[in-house]
Amino acid sequence: MVGYCPICGKPVYFGEKKRSLGRDYHPLCLKCQKCNRQLTAGQHAEYDEKPYCSHCYLKMFGPRGTACLTRTYTHIEKE
Ligand SMILES: [Zn+2]
Ligand SMILES: [Zn+2]
Repeated sequence: MVGYCPICGKPVYFGEKKRSLGRDYHPLCLKCQKCNRQLTAGQHAEYDEKPYCSHCYLKMFGPRGTACLTRTYTHIEKE
């Protein structure tokens, strides 16, 4: 089964996929949509289905987003 990268919209094949927060990304696409920093799968925040580093996330959506971020990290630990 081929998934589609939510960033570039192209198919992600098994050998190259990087799974994070329930979505499959290309390794090069899994980067912060604000500062383009490369992200580690499962160790980043997301907003509106796009990945962000926690620094940019808090800067843009915090501190009200903090609760949301905590939920995201809780979700990661369960996987
Ligand atoms: Zn991609
Ligand atoms: Zn960032």
